[in-house]
Amino acid sequence: MTSKNWAGNLSYSASGLLQPTSVDELREMVAATPRIRALGSRHSFNRIADTTAVQVSTAGIPLDLSIDPVGRTVTVGGGARYGEFARQLDRAGWALHNLASLPHISVAGAIATGTHGSGDRNGCLSTEVAALEIVTADGGTLTLRRGDPDFDGAVVSLGALGVVSRVTLDIELAFEVRQDLFANLPRASLTDHFDEITASAYSVSLFTTWGEVGADPVWIKSRMDALAAAPTSGEIFGAHRVPVQRSPLAEAPAVNTTVQGGVPGAWWDRLPHFALEYTPSNGEELQTEYLVPRRHAIDAFEAVRALAPRLRPHLLVSELRTVAADDLWLSPSHSEDCAGIHFTWQQHIPEVAALLPDLDAALAPFGSRPHWGKLFDTDPGRMPQLYPRLTEFRELAERLDPGHKFRNEFVDRWLFDA
Ligand SMILES: Cc1cc2nc3c(=O)[nH]c(=O)nc-3n(C[C@H](O)[C@H](O)[C@H](O)COP(=O)(O)OP(=O)(O)OC[C@H]3O[C@@H](n4cnc5c(N)ncnc54)[C@H](O)[C@@H]3O)c2cc1C
Repeated sequence: MTSKNWAGNLSYSASGLLQPTSVDELREMVAATPRIRALGSRHSFNRIADTTAVQVSTAGIPLDLSIDPVGRTVTVGGGARYGEFARQLDRAGWALHNLASLPHISVAGAIATGTHGSGDRNGCLSTEVAALEIVTADGGTLTLRRGDPDFDGAVVSLGALGVVSRVTLDIELAFEVRQDLFANLPRASLTDHFDEITASAYSVSLFTTWGEVGADPVWIKSRMDALAAAPTSGEIFGAHRVPVQRSPLAEAPAVNTTVQGGVPGAWWDRLPHFALEYTPSNGEELQTEYLVPRRHAIDAFEAVRALAPRLRPHLLVSELRTVAADDLWLSPSHSEDCAGIHFTWQQHIPEVAALLPDLDAALAPFGSRPHWGKLFDTDPGRMPQLYPRLTEFRELAERLDPGHKFRNEFVDRWLFDA
């Protein structure tokens, strides 16, 4: 049994890991187990997937990919990792609208936390969900489709409603993307032209260590079917195009990243920053992220910058992205277009823990919502204000899981006792 999360910063407290190989077996296990918690690919940095009871992984349930070309959806097992089926989808002529920085995560785990990529008009990955099959507390299955009354509450669930056994995702015609990196964006350009920069291409990420340079690199992903307007050469607001392959992390090998340098490639091989066959990011790290409403982005950046001398000794790099608003009740990008302010930390566990209350306090005035799967120390008392549909979520959870089979300390603290 694996007892640590991907980053190795925490050991799970679970007494065991169940690994069903079919949905029927999963149903029997859920029905027979008094307290159980779904585990995805273990990429979260906090105790969201942990339990003192038993964990269950759906990774062993066959992928069973099925494409509906008329309805434009693909259905896969919840435990499927994006990288496992993306090529197959592409070969059939289809694509997902976006991916996170890594293809190694499971679909059910990603959608449960509102995991996102970047792009002004790209909602988080949970917005791709068209339907969900959930194994509920009594071992029954419940299918919820977009438009059903409980659907918007059930997608970003933090694993608190049941175990997602199958997921149906929206697809679109396959497309190609090219990646271009631009170095040394001046600080004034970040502050004065953030909106123009993020609007300049399909997906834009800006990396920074909060120093004198505004961003380095600016990582631009342009769809080849919308290339006319995208910046692919020369400079963008004072940042110059980088001709060589580069990792956003100074220490990490460039080979870990997906192909840059303007070489067009399939959506699945360009939308993530990190390639499936390599370790994503740095490996030995911690992560934190806050989603702030777009209208407060620049003020929020300045609030972080004011803390920079304290952050920098522990920071590998920050990444600024944009995420379109959605209707999902517990999504960190619920109802407002957002800017994501992400921190990849060195694995300085106590030092980062000590910084988090101050970072939370600095960003709270902007209505910041923490990424559910990363490290944060937000006052749980802020949750009802941050999530106006929280009461409805609690009612939904009470209906689907009256015996609190799927609860853990994490969801009790942030969702139910808040
Ligand atoms: C290197 C790295 C890069 C990352 N990049 C990004 C990024 O670009 N964008 C971003 O937003 N996040 C990013 N993350 C965070 C990551 O996407 C989230 O933490 C995500 O939730 C991890 O998914 P997982 O499959 O590992 O789920 P886990 O971490 O194992 O679990 C997360 C949650 O999902 C629930 N869950 C898992 N499976 C099921 C299921 N079958 N049914 C019901 N609930 C389930 C768990 O109970 C838990 O609540 C990154 C993380 C790492 C380590």
